[in-house]
Amino acid sequence: MNILVANLGSTSFKFRLFRFDSAGEAVLVAKGGYERVTDYGQAIDDCLAELKSRGHVRAAADVHAVGFKTVLGKNLTGCLRADTDERVIVALEEFREIAPAHNPPYALGIRRFREKLPGVPLVALFETAFYQWMPEAATRYAVPAAWHEAGVRRYGFHGASHKFVAERSAELLGRAEVAERVRTLYRAGPASLAVGAGLAVKPLRVISCHLGGSSSVTGIRDGVAIGTSMGLSPQSGLPQNNRVGDLDSAAVPFVMKTLGLSLAEVERQMTKESGLLGLSGVGNDLRDIRAAAEQGNGRAQLALAVFVHSVRHWLGAFLLELGGCDALVFTAGIGENNPDVRAAICADLADLGLLLDADKNSALRGTEGEISAVGSPARIFVIPANEELVVARETVRCLAA
Ligand code: ADP
Repeated sequence: MNILVANLGSTSFKFRLFRFDSAGEAVLVAKGGYERVTDYGQAIDDCLAELKSRGHVRAAADVHAVGFKTVLGKNLTGCLRADTDERVIVALEEFREIAPAHNPPYALGIRRFREKLPGVPLVALFETAFYQWMPEAATRYAVPAAWHEAGVRRYGFHGASHKFVAERSAELLGRAEVAERVRTLYRAGPASLAVGAGLAVKPLRVISCHLGGSSSVTGIRDGVAIGTSMGLSPQSGLPQNNRVGDLDSAAVPFVMKTLGLSLAEVERQMTKESGLLGLSGVGNDLRDIRAAAEQGNGRAQLALAVFVHSVRHWLGAFLLELGGCDALVFTAGIGENNPDVRAAICADLADLGLLLDADKNSALRGTEGEISAVGSPARIFVIPANEELVVARETVRCLAA
């Protein structure tokens, strides 16, 4: 079975083709993409032509389904058919203001796929799906009821990545029953799963740090998210590459009045000129910021310190919420490749059960491995992100259901 995973940006189209054997094992057979895309229909044609010319498919019919990592939709989450369920596109369009860089491209792209590949199942895996079981208190903002009804609440993002961590960390810790629960999570449905229910042995507590171009920390109990640093939109939580992260809401009217900025300009600066870029003044890539910090650039040093402080803030929150942790996991570009940031996050946490092995940590980049010291009560792992594989697997499971 061939599953195409399409990653749609406002001007880009990236794809991966996975092949599943009869035992359900997946192999990545092709990946590619196009920049400066103005017409998704053309990009879909180009993608199919490329897959044919490289011998991966003979005809469009050899693509058995297409999976999409959609961000969020109004009143809709989970893993759903996007070709037959009209609610998917409606939900994406109703929340276009919350994810303006993501929702319009996905709504349009799914429409184009329907036209270009009629009859081929399309499956949307919402990034919010992993957070369906968060306790309500962890999702609510203290806003008027009308705001909440309009959709102002904490949703959570990077769901595919944190779900992969939940499953893989359970496997690494020898908790097969939790890994199996994560595999079947989206088939259970929101109402049918009580956090912690159904598992006989002691709870498995994992804190997952997805640190990359955009970053979030998620607390996971028995494979189910109990809280996340991300809020209403992917602009929230930790300082992002050029996006602000959490900010006191009073800052917006304050800068509008005192700096004379329009709402559009405030939005632009919060989404394009803030985050690690705004703090450092150097750039939005942590490699550049680190190089500048090493040469004595004070703003770059501060940007790193703010990032680490913010991760530790959420780490502390979930250590308390979970009543400790069995594993701390680092994933995504920074989490996988930046031992200095990992060491700074784990500094002085031995009394809380987290003891890093400095040598193992410095040696590990880009591959899976354990970086905790022998005897550390909680284990510390690096698990490379594999979001597209999660989308492909959930697409297969959605079709089988
Ligand atoms: P995105 O969130 O856009 O998918 P990534 O997960 O690749 O991006 O994260 C980008 C960040 O990860 C950058 O700040 C960069 O510094 C860091 N990063 C990515 N790859 C590496 C690498 N090989 N070595 C060091 N840092 C890396």
